[in-house]
Order: sequence, then structure tokens, then C-alpha cells
Amino acid sequence: MTDRVRFAPSPTGYLHVGSARTALFNWLHARATRGTYVLRIEDTDAERNRPELTRALLDELEWLGLDWDEGPHFQSERRDRHREVVEDLLDRGLAYLCDADNAEVAGTSLVDGLAVRFRMPDDRTVAFDDVVRGNVSFDTADLEDFVVWRSNGTPMFLLANAVDDADMGITHAIRGEDLLSGVPKVLLLLDAIGAPRPTYAHLPLLVNASRQKLSKRRDDVAMADFRERGYLPEAMVNYLALLGWGPPDDIEVRPLEEIVELFRIEDVNKAAAFFDLRKLEHVNASHLRGLDKATFVERVQPWLDEAPWAPEAFDAGVFDRMVDLVQEKLRTLADVVRFVDFLFLEEPADDPESWQKVMVDGPSAAEVLDGAAAALAGCPWESEAVKDAVAEVGEALDLRLGKAQAPVRVAVTGRTVGPPLFEAMAECMERDEVLRRIARARARL
Ligand code: GLU
Repeated sequence: MTDRVRFAPSPTGYLHVGSARTALFNWLHARATRGTYVLRIEDTDAERNRPELTRALLDELEWLGLDWDEGPHFQSERRDRHREVVEDLLDRGLAYLCDADNAEVAGTSLVDGLAVRFRMPDDRTVAFDDVVRGNVSFDTADLEDFVVWRSNGTPMFLLANAVDDADMGITHAIRGEDLLSGVPKVLLLLDAIGAPRPTYAHLPLLVNASRQKLSKRRDDVAMADFRERGYLPEAMVNYLALLGWGPPDDIEVRPLEEIVELFRIEDVNKAAAFFDLRKLEHVNASHLRGLDKATFVERVQPWLDEAPWAPEAFDAGVFDRMVDLVQEKLRTLADVVRFVDFLFLEEPADDPESWQKVMVDGPSAAEVLDGAAAALAGCPWESEAVKDAVAEVGEALDLRLGKAQAPVRVAVTGRTVGPPLFEAMAECMERDEVLRRIARARARL
């Protein structure tokens, strides 16, 4: 029998990094074992059962490339089956009706306005082997009789979760550590139904730089935001795979196909995993550099289309000359705009921080601009000569090239950070335009 692995999110309208990692690890296990990846939407709560919440989730899974083999199944459509199981538990005395004060009410069929609680057996140990955490055991004395059916006529999450895993023949439940404490209750339900227990693997907690659990309020957690900021899906899944797992050869940046080959759920470790935005950026930059030119151009296109310059000002030929210069430097696709906008905007973007740092607080900005204006007016218009000209201006002022080029860069591009300056000026701009911008900045000083 092949493994049947499920991703079972409760829709919240966005895909949280934690859920994305869970989705990925289930997918990886399914693909690595040639098993079946089942998608089940756990929307038993009325407020979760809204199509747009689920749509957002499916969109992000598709973007990440985590295709499913079966589903999506909707838990909300299985209410009759959940009811049947609860009635059977009532019938067998394994659960009981209770009123709003939690007092037991006699009866063996569901009654509107009454909830149903599972009767916790006395003094038993419920134990299981978690793939990640090893042997885990709970004492039933520490657990309360828990609600399996709400007084409003809907199943409780744990009941639906257990019944659906059983009915769908799920063999592996890979999910976040925060769900660990619910396992003994699910196991008691599965035992009561007479269904086999799936294998559980609880993935380590994700924490931020302050070692706090990721929170929606404090941290960047929505997959859609990373997508909008120009992270590549292949970089995103590559990075997510490293949150709790690592390849045996320690080569971290690699294509998903290779990760599938190397992934073993048994190798997931239990130490909390740091969701490191800088490392994510590094992984993204590496994947960006690895794209062939045509693919890179295709991938940045949506950001170019949204850029702030007038559409007719965009020059594909100029951009083509810039591609090699920028592809090396970008951290995200969205970065492309601030790397090339000076070529297509009438005036360079005015970044106040750059201006302050270089033109106001930096050394000899006026002298550099005067010198550069004179030198660049006469030198050959090619990058080496342009560089030498600016270097000479710097030497006369006792500035190294890095310092000398800064005022020129800010005058021409508007910013301190950007593509290699001399190539960009000589290969993509007219001399007159460069001189005009230098004069304009000089006049502002
Ligand atoms: N629906 C649960 C959640 O989104 C996960 C259930 C499970 O994986 O067993 O938190």
C-alpha cells in the first residue's frame, strides 16, 4: 500500500509560512515515497466555510507548485458522516449529551441546543511514536471530557479531523507542533471508531529573530506578500524545506526535484527553526542568478509593467543591455524597478536618505560633481574611460573610487545602491543626459 499523506488546512484567507511549510513537507513526503497527496479543507467552523478564504489558499499552493493528487475535500460537506459517528458514540455510551452548564443530560440521540462530550477513560496512558518527537505519551487523568459536537449542530474540529483521516485512509499526518496536544484525543476517537492510527510527524515550531513564535501581527508571515515582493516560488519552497530539515550533503540552495530525491521525513529535527528573512533573501537571490536570461526577463516583466515610469519611456533595448548587470544584484524581482528606473524616468527618483548621506553628510560632493562634469564632458563614452575619469577626480580630492562615485551615482540614479554605475552610464545613457543630471544635482546642493 502506498502512503496517503494529507495537508489539512483550516482556511484563514491567507497561507501562513507555517502552513506553507506543512503543505510542503506533506507534499515532499508524498512525492519522495511515490504516495498520494490529499488536500482537505477543514472548514467546519461556519466562519471558515467561505469560498474566498479557500481560494486564497489554493492560489498560494498552486503558486508554490504543490500540486495535489486528490481533493480538495471539504470537511463542511461531510457533516452527515460526522453526525453519524457522534450518534454512534452516544449510542455506545462513549460520549454524552450536555447542556450549557456542562451538566450531563440523558439521551442517545442528538438534540438541538445540546453539545456532546467524549467521555475520557479513567487512568489510561495514550502513547504514540511521533516521527519527529519520538515517543509521546499523555495520561487521560490530565485530559478533560472534550466536546465532539457543538450545541449549534456542528462537529468539533478534532472529531471531524479524526473521522476524515480514518475515512480517507490517511497513513501520515505531518503538521505543526502546536497541534501535538490534540493527538491523544484524536487517538481515543480513532480507537473508538475502530480505525487505524496514522503516523504522526510534528514539525518544529517556527520562530523569529527574537526566538518568539511567528505572529501575524509582528512578523512577515503571508505567502502572498512574499509573492508580491518578488520572491520566486522555487526559492520559497527551497527555503521552506530548510525549516526543520537539511540535505545530507549540506548543499542548501537547490531545485525542488533534488530535494524530493533527498527528503526523508525521519530526518526532520525537533529544534525550533528560525524563519530567517535574510537567509530567505539569499536563497532567492541565488535562484534569481541561476535563471537563464530569457526566463529572468519573463519573470521580472510583471514588475516592469507596474513600474512608475511612463509606459512609452521604457526601452526594451536599453533594458536588455542592463539585464546582465542587474540580474547578479537583485535580491527580489521587485528590486528590478529601483535598479533601472533612472533609465526610464525623466528625472531620477529622489531618495531622501541617499541624498542626505552622500550629498549632505558625505565628503566633497560639490567638488566631485564639478570635477565629474568637466571630466565626463570630454572622455571617450565607454565604461572604462568613464570610470577612469571619475577615479581621477577622486584622486585629486583624496577620495577612493567608492567615495568619489557616490555623488555621481546619486545625481544620475537618485540612489546610493544600484547597478554597476559606469557600465550603466556609458552603455545605457547618453552623455548629455548624464551631464544634465550632474548639473541639476549640483544646483540643488
Ligand atoms: N486544520 C488544522 C489547522 O489548520 C490542521 C489539522 C491537521 O493537520 O491535523 O490548524
